[in-house]
Amino acid sequence: MSETDFKLFINGAHRPGSDGATFANISPVDGSVIGQIHQATQADVDDAVRAAQAALTGPWGTMARNDRLEMLHEVAAEIDRRFHDFLAAEVADTGKPVSLASHVDIPRGAANFKIFADVVKNVPSEFFGMDVPGTDGAINYGLRKPKGVIAVICPWNLPLLLMTWKVGPALACGNTVIVKPSEETPATATLLGEVMNTVGVPAGVYNVVHGFGPGATGEFLTTHPDVDAITFTGENLTGEKIMQASAVGARDISLELGGKNPAIVFADADMVAAIEGTMRSAFANCGQVCLGTERIYVERPIFDEFVARLKDSAEALKVGRPSDDDTDFGPLISEEHRDKVLGFYEKAVTDGAKVVTGGGVPQLEDDIAGGWWVEPTIWTGLEEDSTVVTDEIFGPCCHIRPFDTEEEAIELANDTPFGLAAAVWTTNASRAHRVGAALDVGLCWVNSWFLRDLRTPFGGSKASGIGREGGVHSLEFYTETTNVCLQL
Ligand code: NAD
Repeated sequence: MSETDFKLFINGAHRPGSDGATFANISPVDGSVIGQIHQATQADVDDAVRAAQAALTGPWGTMARNDRLEMLHEVAAEIDRRFHDFLAAEVADTGKPVSLASHVDIPRGAANFKIFADVVKNVPSEFFGMDVPGTDGAINYGLRKPKGVIAVICPWNLPLLLMTWKVGPALACGNTVIVKPSEETPATATLLGEVMNTVGVPAGVYNVVHGFGPGATGEFLTTHPDVDAITFTGENLTGEKIMQASAVGARDISLELGGKNPAIVFADADMVAAIEGTMRSAFANCGQVCLGTERIYVERPIFDEFVARLKDSAEALKVGRPSDDDTDFGPLISEEHRDKVLGFYEKAVTDGAKVVTGGGVPQLEDDIAGGWWVEPTIWTGLEEDSTVVTDEIFGPCCHIRPFDTEEEAIELANDTPFGLAAAVWTTNASRAHRVGAALDVGLCWVNSWFLRDLRTPFGGSKASGIGREGGVHSLEFYTETTNVCLQL
């Protein structure tokens, strides 16, 4: 594989799509073409599914469990060894700062293989002894078996991290996978194929098919009758389509979808910590984090100070080339996404927002001015029914509104169809527990954000998803349990 030629990876080999079709991979930094992505046809998806099925009954399926788990540790070690290749690939696709990708995307991408290998090794299954009158009783135990061929459909915001978050546990449980990376970010999934071969993971265990979603590669994969389960991260409407596809054959599905995540900042919060955490939750990865904060509710006595401090910090962000050491803010992923985000910037003004900072496109040097840049943006003064406050923007922006009581803050935070994540900032321990429990979300951070122990449940409530992954919850999704009942 050359760095600019993103081929499919099927049955242990990189190859073009069967009809030879490719499409351009565009740099978000300057809008230039950085490579060609090979598109998988229905026939290629069929090949990938057949290869994945064969591996299940072949060397992967018959491999001793400890050998399999050891191999996944070697995959992690090989990603670490090729750290700079993965870093360069991820940064080229996304334009995110090297400082971010080197601390989050690539290390966590490798960690996903180690953690889930260890979870599979250490988590026991169920056992129940049972009284049966007139006999010595019976024992029941649960046997976890791989579910089969898993389709992994990925978004573009954290390509390696979110893909391995599914591939790691799926393989640890003994499944085989077919990954459909986002059409915006093909590189690290393709590169992982090389790692699999280097480590000796059998052909067909890990497959990658590139292409678009509707009526194309993504749909060919999710509607394929021999795919046993589908795990998806992405937008809600796509999730609904994929859920419909999974209904045929009653196949299992895991959906990690969008959010419109609130932060609640109480007057007793540690202001420095709240600003630092909110800066990350609103602006990290140019706001393209599903768990990010787009609605902030601040208790009235500290409202003005919080807004002023967040403004100062946002204006201090260094927008620029990913490789510059001091860059902490990159471009959006694509022209289409930038148009969407700028549409919300305009709508905010139309709806009467006060633009505290940002709201437009930053001035950059000529060589990168053609990229998909927007300014970090803060608004106040919008009504709660403005679409800027109700809809997921997935950009570097947030709306801040004052509140007067704890009850009001909880009501405002929960008044959304979404239920992915929330952040609460307070030094009052009772309040922290009370509000944490009252928020209708899958993940609630208190005095922190994005702190993730991979053994804990991850997923959204309400419209933000179905199911939980992480730790033992991933085992629930990636295995079928057979209960063996033995009369003694
Ligand atoms: P998207 O839904 O547009 O695309 C995700 C993937 O689905 C892509 O690979 C795409 O090609 C594929 N796809 C699209 N239509 C399809 C179809 N009909 N059948 C099969 N596959 C199809 O999402 P995106 O724009 O890549 O990602 C951004 C979204 O992802 C945001 O809404 C964000 O909140 C969400 N997200 C959620 C989480 C989470 O953990 N809950 C994490 C990251 C991102």
